[in-house]
Amino acid sequence: MQKLRFFDHTLPDLSQAVKGFGKEGFRAQQLFRWIYGQHIFDFEKMTNLSKDFRKEVSSLMDFELPEVLQAHQSVDGTTKLLFNVGAGKSVEAVLIPRREQMTICLSSEVGCNMACKFCYTGKQKLQRKLETWEIVGQFVQAQRHLGLDRRITNIVFMGMGEPLDNPDAVFKACEILQSEWGYNLSRKRITVSTSGIVPLIPRVTAAGVRLAVSLNGVNDQIRSEIMPINKRWNLKELLDACLEHCRETDDKVTFEYVLLKGVTDSLADAKALYRLTKNIPCKINIIPFNEHPDSGFHRPSEQAIVEFQNELIRLGSHVLRRKTMGRDIYAACGQLTTAAKAKAKAAESPAPL
Ligand code: SF4
Repeated sequence: MQKLRFFDHTLPDLSQAVKGFGKEGFRAQQLFRWIYGQHIFDFEKMTNLSKDFRKEVSSLMDFELPEVLQAHQSVDGTTKLLFNVGAGKSVEAVLIPRREQMTICLSSEVGCNMACKFCYTGKQKLQRKLETWEIVGQFVQAQRHLGLDRRITNIVFMGMGEPLDNPDAVFKACEILQSEWGYNLSRKRITVSTSGIVPLIPRVTAAGVRLAVSLNGVNDQIRSEIMPINKRWNLKELLDACLEHCRETDDKVTFEYVLLKGVTDSLADAKALYRLTKNIPCKINIIPFNEHPDSGFHRPSEQAIVEFQNELIRLGSHVLRRKTMGRDIYAACGQLTTAAKAKAKAAESPAPL
């Protein structure tokens, strides 16, 4: 009999499956509470499970989690975890402390096909989509890494991959992480970010989670140049879908805007960004580009960044500047994976003569 993957199942699915094994459905709730709620992974310590069920459970279910290959802590408190997802592949999650909050940035795919020009992961083509248990597993392993004294409070799907290119696994993972028998995370503390897969934005709306959109260009010409997805769904279609999301949810959308020197950072761009977003309930996160090798882009000067932000503030936008965190640990998405690969390759290769 094939074992059932525990970390792949929502509570209702797990209850059904447990009943299918001839056991009481509430065993699923008990397992959720022990594993997600209390982080007890030793069945012998699960005192309210019957002795028989304790003995049987590991033959019925598989509790595999993605292995943590590396953990790097930055001087600013950010921690980046690298996970083994098999076949020599890895993905990353980043823990970002901010006052009383602890946000985790999760990956949804190995590589990414969206090919955004400024993105490190975009250079790594999609190799495969992660399964639900691998997404949930990043969270569980990160919480184990932290210890239960410091709980993860927020999730952003802004790691490797385009979350809406893998929606079934992403939204199922969201449901599992929200379970009141487990981590009990509020929907409003989960943000799904997209580069602009317009037809799937209603799924974000339906899931009740927050929407972030990687905008980065103020007209179709510049956006199509740096984000090829814009050729498929243009700015107007994207912004209309965002407005619809706001109407349906009564929530704001977050627009991410990467400042690339000489490409997206002029005061005229700031004005255009204001005009584009002024009728949409939103906040704008400006993100000074985190330089990485061979990107072909540069970070604007500090003065240009401040002027850009001030212009938006002057016009009346709700704008925040995303602090660049973890620069000493390859914090741009995909960088740690690439660095680990380069290291492995160097170790395999004979020393140059
Ligand atoms: S920015 Fe996001 S969607 Fe674009 S290539 Fe990178 S991972 Fe993919």
